[in-house]
Amino acid sequence: MRGSFPLLLPLYFGAALFGANAGARPAPPVAAVADVTIVATPVRARWERHSRRPIRVFIAAAPGTRGWNPGLLETTWASFRRWSTAGVPVRFARVASASDADVVVEWVDALPGTCIGKTWREDVGAEISNARITLALHDHRGRVLTPEMQRGAALHEIGHLLGLEHVGHRDSIMYPQVWVTDIAEADRNALRSLYTSRAPVAAD
Ligand SMILES: [Zn+2]
Repeated sequence: MRGSFPLLLPLYFGAALFGANAGARPAPPVAAVADVTIVATPVRARWERHSRRPIRVFIAAAPGTRGWNPGLLETTWASFRRWSTAGVPVRFARVASASDADVVVEWVDALPGTCIGKTWREDVGAEISNARITLALHDHRGRVLTPEMQRGAALHEIGHLLGLEHVGHRDSIMYPQVWVTDIAEADRNALRSLYTSRAPVAAD
């Protein structure tokens, strides 16, 4: 499907058990391999027309989904704000409906396999057009994801939403499994590099 636009990129986030595998070799990030291959386009996509207006984010309530609680709305929004500190001209604004949004965040009980997060991103050429993030509330064994795991998953998926790809070092939030639950200086640098590596496309 590469070369046909718009391009929908499914980005799966593997659920390594944070802290549970101490001392053991981490499982290979199986679910991540496809991401990196698909995303390897000549020009990496980013949001282009949002330096003047923010990316509009709708975080859906999911009261009917097992394990969901209203506090997730604010903690997830806090993860968006966290990325806003990276020093790039990308801002987020919350909106009240999916129809007004560039980005929709939704929850499910669980995702297939060991995934705990997934980002569908629609890229038009080198410009990200819109995206949908799905966050799981339970791992593949049915266990409730801790707030730390949920925060790590949200930050990771928002990284994909902004255009970042997976990296191979575990101190990055963009490692394909949860080993850290905050963005690192390397992640901020990667984002700054992406958003300053070429001239912006003129806003319409
Ligand atoms: Zn990922």
